[in-house]
Amino acid sequence: MVTNASPADRSSSADPTPATSTAPATSTAPATSSRRTFLSLSTAAAAVTASAGAGVALTAAPAGAAAKERTWPDGPGKPVTGQRPDAELRALLREIDQDRVEANVRKLVSFGTRHTLSAQDDPERGIGAARDWILAEMKRYAAASGGRMTAELQSYVQEPGPRIPVATRITNVVATLRGSASPDRIYVVSGHYDSRVTDVMNATADAPGADDDASGVAVVMELARVMAKRRPEATLVFTAVAGEEQGLYGARYQAKQYRTANADVQGMFTNDIVGSSTADDGTRDPRSLRLFAEGVPTAESPGEGDVRRAVGGENDSASRQLARFVSSVADNDATGMRVRIIYRRDRYLRGGDHIGYLEQDYPAARFTEPHEDFAHQHQDVRVEDGKQYGDLPEFCDFAYIARVAKVNAAALWSLAQAPGTPKNARVRTSELTNDTELVWDRGTEPDLAGYEVVWRETTSPDWTHVIPVGNVTGVRIDLSKDNAFFGIRAVDRDGHRSPVAFPVPG
Ligand SMILES: [Zn+2]
Repeated sequence: MVTNASPADRSSSADPTPATSTAPATSTAPATSSRRTFLSLSTAAAAVTASAGAGVALTAAPAGAAAKERTWPDGPGKPVTGQRPDAELRALLREIDQDRVEANVRKLVSFGTRHTLSAQDDPERGIGAARDWILAEMKRYAAASGGRMTAELQSYVQEPGPRIPVATRITNVVATLRGSASPDRIYVVSGHYDSRVTDVMNATADAPGADDDASGVAVVMELARVMAKRRPEATLVFTAVAGEEQGLYGARYQAKQYRTANADVQGMFTNDIVGSSTADDGTRDPRSLRLFAEGVPTAESPGEGDVRRAVGGENDSASRQLARFVSSVADNDATGMRVRIIYRRDRYLRGGDHIGYLEQDYPAARFTEPHEDFAHQHQDVRVEDGKQYGDLPEFCDFAYIARVAKVNAAALWSLAQAPGTPKNARVRTSELTNDTELVWDRGTEPDLAGYEVVWRETTSPDWTHVIPVGNVTGVRIDLSKDNAFFGIRAVDRDGHRSPVAFPVPG
């Protein structure tokens, strides 16, 4: 299958440069050719064994059986391909400036510490100085937006709780670029601007937080700068949040505000520790970016859990569809990056600001560098046995951070220009049938052109087949819902595809 074959191909390559001429995305390799490849390899293996004489029956039969299994079920449609960046997106990606990214990381480090419990009113040092500088920069970007972007502080007082010994004001910086056609549809990108050292309660020691997470904030700021001058169809929110290290406070508050307002947030990404491509053993992987996306939804209701246990869907949360969308638009030669989707919510022993959004039942995922060096995170700045510890800018790879910004830009811009994810997607289950009837609500985008049904074998990690079905809100597919997974996506007049909606029985 496509996605079974591709990761092996990629990881076997020692060349850090991504394959630019062929198959840029996981989902771009034609399913049929991969199957052919698999079949021809099986046939070749069988032929070699046959020519060697002994063992023909033993090896040829399993190879043949496996090949047959891989082509089942047969169904309609053509292979799914990735979405190539259009001219507007390519121009936007070219504007992302590594030097500005580096300057922003170094400026954030210059505040000494950005600990959530550090000074909020010192103009030079502490989280308050960082907050005011980020806001001023965002306002500067907004000034070039023709009134479409606003930048403001979002703050509340957190009462004493875990890692918060006294009532503390927690403040997020929020820049909102209002959509030109679908302003109520929102996508959020974040980094956290607070930092820490070894003792999470130490608010005075130098806590440079270059990788964790000035890198993520620098990505968000650079995205805000290049996008402020443009007109996305949906609304984009660029935010630097606080309180992450103390317990995801800022992002949790922000997500709750959106939920209380019943806001239609259709995707959120946190960039947290996106500053280096060098592992603690020194190996480099400068063309990979991890994207953590949960399967079973954090906010799943008991009823939704019952459905999932009955008919599957643990690999089809809205967050997984969002991650697959990112791979289809951002894993290519225009970003120079490979998006390595990880099928889990976050790393062991760690969490991030996407969790605040997942708790509010919004699709969300986390970008993080491919290998972490824990000597450079959450550490007192010190030299021990000749080894430098601490989250210092000298350990950052600014070209890498700029490419991370390009991945985010491709994802956010493609989301904003495409129609929204289809709503109220259902698979009809009123009677026993050997086909599949799907229904959904029509979107409200002015440039909406129609819909596509996608499907895949239940064991495949990504969509493999696509069936254009026209400008309709229901369709019957000649393939049993019992034997494959189905999804629905919207298409606009320019060919922009939305993320996939996974239908629920009903
Ligand atoms: Zn972090």
